[in-house]
Amino acid sequence: MNTIHINESRLLNRMERMAEIGMVNGNGVHRLSLTKEDKEARDLLKTWMLEAGLDLDIDKIGNMYGRRKGETDDAPVAFGSHLDTVGFGGRFDGSLGVIAALEVMETLNDLNLVTNSPLCMVNFTNEEGARFAPDMMGSMVVTAEISIEKAWNATDLKKSDIILKEELERLGYLGNTDPASFRPAAFVELHIEQGPVLEKEQITIGVVESVQGICWTRFVITGEVNHAGTTPMELRKDAGYVVSQIATYCRQLAGEYPGLRTTAGLIELEPNLINVIAGNARIATDIRCPDKHILEKAETALEKFAYECTYGENCEIEISTLTQVDPVKFERRVVASVANSARSLGYTTKRMVSGAGHDAQLMAGVCPAAMIFIPSENGISHSVKEYSSPDDCVAGTNVLLHTVISLSGS
Ligand SMILES: [Zn+2]
Repeated sequence: MNTIHINESRLLNRMERMAEIGMVNGNGVHRLSLTKEDKEARDLLKTWMLEAGLDLDIDKIGNMYGRRKGETDDAPVAFGSHLDTVGFGGRFDGSLGVIAALEVMETLNDLNLVTNSPLCMVNFTNEEGARFAPDMMGSMVVTAEISIEKAWNATDLKKSDIILKEELERLGYLGNTDPASFRPAAFVELHIEQGPVLEKEQITIGVVESVQGICWTRFVITGEVNHAGTTPMELRKDAGYVVSQIATYCRQLAGEYPGLRTTAGLIELEPNLINVIAGNARIATDIRCPDKHILEKAETALEKFAYECTYGENCEIEISTLTQVDPVKFERRVVASVANSARSLGYTTKRMVSGAGHDAQLMAGVCPAAMIFIPSENGISHSVKEYSSPDDCVAGTNVLLHTVISLSGS
């Protein structure tokens, strides 16, 4: 079985061809979900899927499925990713997982190999959330994390009169299939790491065991605008001072709890003038951790601290949770299958945690799932500078192929 390899030039040529759709700066890709670029990408994928003899199906949220028959009518082994990108993003994030999935189907066709279980490749709608919120929308509807109605009613983040369902209809990707009917036997996603670990340690394949949980919190502080020169220190209600303390404490938390990553990337002051005490201030924090218990503890500590320093400054505070996603542990059997496939092909491996969110973490809620990572140059992603070598793309796709063969009981 180990002698089976994918067709490298077909994979790389198709990645090149896909990157031309929405290409920016001669290298990056700007292909927001359900735009005319996304339609063009979907149309191209559709052509390739039909040429590969796959049975094409589109569900109510526009997820695209390509099915290949097996010896049995069991639930399929599924694999895939997403074709949408962030604004001015890269050509590997998402696209690699979709085109690799197609390449797995093509390779099996070339070999006349019929797997025991049927197979199903997927292109999920709106993984990035760069145009419509929430992100990972296609897989969230599949797993009933949000209702189809809520997803349909999502509006363009920049043009609130544009409604997602109308865009699906306009582009011809509003299907009839119930997304919740997609219940595969297992799900595997090949993706770029989007972090620096594999490259730094010179490892080819990341065997992803879990995905970090995320908590986004917004703190709105109300104080009092006043003169910087005439207001005594003890009489100030300085909202700017409060958010700066929250930002500092947020960073310090990461030193207190193992595995915690904390960021305060959004701070706004009003009126934001050099000689005026800020009367209003907003800060949003992003806290991530693979351990749910630690994530909750850190979040509670941050909120307690925010209340304390707000009241210490005689200000008022409003706290709201913007996003809360629990950490996900992938199933041992699927993770082991990825690790064994990589090792049998002679690739170096490392067990790791995903720092970013992916469709596979949603799918893990309805079936056993896992992910395969390949190195990202300088750990850069969501940027036109995103790069993974052709050799690594090929290696990841070979691991996907062997994982799928093994999971499908063939
Ligand atoms: Zn992605």
